[in-house]
Amino acid sequence: MKAETPARDPLLQAIPLTQLKGIGESLAGKLAKLGLSTVQDLVFHLPFLYQDRTRVTPLGSLRPNVEAVIEGEVRGCDVVYGKRRSLLCLLQDNTGTVALRFYHFSNAQKQRLMPGTKLRCYGEPRRGAAGLEFYHPEYLHLDDVRSENLEQTLTPVYPTTEGVGQQRLRNIIQQALQLANEHSVPELLQNLPTENTGGLLDALRFLHSPPKNAPLDQLLEGQHPSQQRLAFEELLAHHLSLLKVRARIQTHKAWPLDKDHFGDAFLQSLPFSLTTAQLRVATEIAEDLAKLFPMLRLVQGDVGSGKTLVAALAVLRAVACGTQAALMAPTEILAEQHRLNFCNWFVPLGIDVVAVTGRQKAADKREQLARVARGDAQVVIGTHALIQDIVSFAKLGLIIIDEQHRFGVQQRLNLRNKGDGILPHQLIMTATPIPRTLAMSAYADLDCSTIDELPPGRTPVETVVISNSRRDRVIARVSEACRQDRQAYWVCTLIEESEVLEAQAAEATAEELSLALPHLRIALLHGRVKTPEKERIMTAFKQGELDLLVATTVIEVGVDVPKASLMIIENPERLGLAQLHQLRGRVGRGSAASHCVLLYGSPLSKLAQARLRVMRNSNDGFVIAEKDLEIRGPGEVLGTRQTGELQLKIADLQRDAHLLEQVRKAASSLQQQPELVNALTRRWLGHSQDYSGV
Ligand code: ADP
Ligand code: MG
Repeated sequence: MKAETPARDPLLQAIPLTQLKGIGESLAGKLAKLGLSTVQDLVFHLPFLYQDRTRVTPLGSLRPNVEAVIEGEVRGCDVVYGKRRSLLCLLQDNTGTVALRFYHFSNAQKQRLMPGTKLRCYGEPRRGAAGLEFYHPEYLHLDDVRSENLEQTLTPVYPTTEGVGQQRLRNIIQQALQLANEHSVPELLQNLPTENTGGLLDALRFLHSPPKNAPLDQLLEGQHPSQQRLAFEELLAHHLSLLKVRARIQTHKAWPLDKDHFGDAFLQSLPFSLTTAQLRVATEIAEDLAKLFPMLRLVQGDVGSGKTLVAALAVLRAVACGTQAALMAPTEILAEQHRLNFCNWFVPLGIDVVAVTGRQKAADKREQLARVARGDAQVVIGTHALIQDIVSFAKLGLIIIDEQHRFGVQQRLNLRNKGDGILPHQLIMTATPIPRTLAMSAYADLDCSTIDELPPGRTPVETVVISNSRRDRVIARVSEACRQDRQAYWVCTLIEESEVLEAQAAEATAEELSLALPHLRIALLHGRVKTPEKERIMTAFKQGELDLLVATTVIEVGVDVPKASLMIIENPERLGLAQLHQLRGRVGRGSAASHCVLLYGSPLSKLAQARLRVMRNSNDGFVIAEKDLEIRGPGEVLGTRQTGELQLKIADLQRDAHLLEQVRKAASSLQQQPELVNALTRRWLGHSQDYSGV
């Protein structure tokens, strides 16, 4: 099926993928999942990794964990029975021998690996029972290929999706590049701040097939001038699209929330006064709320800095002006905690607070939803359930999103759409500080306030780093703390994103600790514990009826139990620093001295050691965020091209932070050229650019 070829020299972005050889509807459907719908999209679908398959490495020179192409002759091939049955095939050249190991293999495959057979393999050797071993390498029988058929360029590895192999993707991208030669990929930018690499198309061609002698290390680190050039363009495109969103939002109307008759009474009811930072941020928010267009403001504040109160003050303004306010929290536990707080604070002021959660009983929920729809409920607190379509508000004036790093763009959008023509103001709160340069770029559509001060009287959490080989001592320490009428958390972490596995690990640990500490009252909390049970446990823990709470990272955000002053975190090396800091923020909330034990599994890599050292040496979320950025450096971040909400093809917000100041400048001078802005955002963001639109 051929699409019509437009007349003369059409833009590449106008040519549908199905015009390429071998792309039918089915493949096109799969490619659409990768955000690829035109030939231009393919040309800008960039590799995230390169492999060097241009040279054969002699077996004697292989290094563990370094990928290589090898050639050799099969010396033997047998099924062996270790922990698992496998096919072990020995390969030899005149410099040495290695083993190929297959856990999945067919009889036919085995038959073809007769002694004397010559093979070429590609893979990563690891140390194994039989010396250096390749596990499931890609391989070819050399009789099937002529030996000069080695790759002539570095091999790109692309982000892909199920059913689209690398080889297939390489082929169609090469076809797309052919077309790019004949049609135009316009050079949109002049005056690039990056090193000159010739034209845009040259850079693209280079990155899709770097010549043999290209600097592999530089490419792997994303530092090649061709990558930097494109990274700059991509960051600029994102920045421009966020500015566009912001401009668009400001063309909408919002209820001006300019009255405040509850604020004073509320503040007087508190047992403390606000910090200077809380007051300043509350004022910034109040000024935005009084405007006729929607606020879109991010409040950053370290764990325990008192963001909830700042949110409460904003809610009171919404209520004072006769509108409703919605507060969305990322977990049921946190939503429940907010509900309790807001009820305590607001019910005495005659304000009606309701909760809408995913696991409410149907009848109860219907009743609450009806009150929200009628406008009887002035303050609505909930989890993701709040964004469901069935929730409609009578007059929604303000939305507050707590711990925003947990929410995607789409969720933000859905809730915002509940406003019926007039948009609600939006306040987004996060305890994960974003270094300033990054914030400018990742959140260019938001205004930003920072609560940079903790309430007085907090004692910093003292953190120690201890190897799991001294687990017994740590357990003894928990026992001792609880004897002194303190409470403790024991947090289990897992690498896999599996709730089931995580729950199992936590269960095992809870059992172990119950055996070791029979005199303690221990409870277990994880993602699979049902809500009523969860609430019962949290309440019991808050009221001091439990000594030790064994939990997964579900307790990460926001939970506030002042008497808990000891936290053990198992395998902290698996978590990001920001997440560790969040977790640790669960202790140190009362006036007692608090401790955090990072119980690591040895051996620790140098990098992990450095990261845990940062946790030991600092209690300041902002310092930790900056250090994290420093330590992680380029290499580590490779392959994880996702920072918060941004899906980047080639740029990396952290690695390319040095470009951001230039990006910002370029963006403000280009903003007035809508056609250019559209071409850039179309090129780099495709259809996703409308996500945060309204
Ligand atoms: P976070 O910023 O992590 O969301 P919270 O809003 O949960 O922090 O506040 C943490 C604790 O500090 C709460 O118990 C809260 O009542 C208390 N708090 C907030 N502001 C102040 C203040 N100005 N002085 C004393 N305590 C405060
Ligand atoms: Mg909070």
